Amino acid sequence: MPTPSTRISGIIPSGKDGWEVHFEAYTRKQAGEAITMLSVGDHDFDTPSETVEACVREVRAGHHHYTNLPGIPRLRRAMAAVSAESTGVPTTADQVLATPGGQSALFAAVTATLDPGSHAIVVAPYYATYPGTFRAVGAGFTVVETHAEDGFQPDAAAIEKAIEPNTRAILINSPNNPTGAIYTRESLEKLADICIRHDLWLLSDEVYWSITGGREHISPRALPGMEERTLVINSMSKSHGMTGWRIGWLTGPEPMISLLINLNLVTTYGLPDFVSRAATEALENRYGVDDIAARYAARRTIFLDALAGANDIVVRGSEGGMYIMLDISAVDPDCEAFAWALLDTEKIAVMPGSSFGDAASGHIRISLTQPDDILRDAAIRLKRFVGGYKRDAA
Ligand code: PLP
Repeated sequence: MPTPSTRISGIIPSGKDGWEVHFEAYTRKQAGEAITMLSVGDHDFDTPSETVEACVREVRAGHHHYTNLPGIPRLRRAMAAVSAESTGVPTTADQVLATPGGQSALFAAVTATLDPGSHAIVVAPYYATYPGTFRAVGAGFTVVETHAEDGFQPDAAAIEKAIEPNTRAILINSPNNPTGAIYTRESLEKLADICIRHDLWLLSDEVYWSITGGREHISPRALPGMEERTLVINSMSKSHGMTGWRIGWLTGPEPMISLLINLNLVTTYGLPDFVSRAATEALENRYGVDDIAARYAARRTIFLDALAGANDIVVRGSEGGMYIMLDISAVDPDCEAFAWALLDTEKIAVMPGSSFGDAASGHIRISLTQPDDILRDAAIRLKRFVGGYKRDAA
């Protein structure tokens, strides 16, 4: 075969990708072992039935054809309305680009702001696809860590220090995957100040905007001077329980969104027609949104209540999203060894924090993607495991 491009070969350099514990657990589960999977960020429940019924209706009604490149007009209007709600900034349909999932919106944002050879800053811990997304467009990036003891809030001074002459963008994610941290207004104001002074784009991944455990979601897009330099990544995967439907969107200044329609032209050529129509109905009627948010808030409480009294475990971040981040460094500073031992002993699969960068090492990420009773039981077993772990090591 002729040589593949350097660009495609370089997206995921070979070697460890951090998913080893998860895939081993998955394989064992497939083989019949009773493994409790707390390692994956996908809902354990189906898409709300109203959305499913809407899709069946639309496909039966003959909506099988090409759609407008940036999304059908009603879908864009519905997305704009949700962006107005989630970011607190009035938003029009032409400030929105519909994409197949949040990941595509992220790719669009990175493509639109970075040239090959440009530089970006990414705040860690971060969602696992971020480095590959920068590499896919040939851009360099610097990882700036947050600190567990600050609740994983971004460190503005460290971010400013990482700026280089060719830096064009900063990428953040709040509520955060993997830490569950929700960035405070003060943290976001400091980031906004840096973006304005250095004339940078802020790429704000807000796919968990609705899952905040009742806390306020603050979008940096709403801060003074930021609307013109913020691109918000959004998705129906988490908020509307639609991971497999692949619907997301990017919100930003109209001239940038206009340019990005050309990216849809050469990549997706629009979204599936009947899926777009069902998604529109789900957005307009908030199908599942409040229920899903309430479900994760309740699960967080159930898990943490059942874990109470595990003195060697410290909860960090863990305010929103679908995740809980536990500092287990007092039990074992090697979080990967801890995760393997937890899998072998208690048959519970979690993600080692180190899979999300050094900032989260010494931690494990718990995905709250199991029913209440399974989560309660897993927390009790984790507590028991930690007690025994220390004794064995002594
Ligand atoms: N951003 C973050 C922080 C995520 O956790 C995810 C998915 O887990 C995505 C983006 C991608 O979302 P989607 O499933 O809509 O592509």
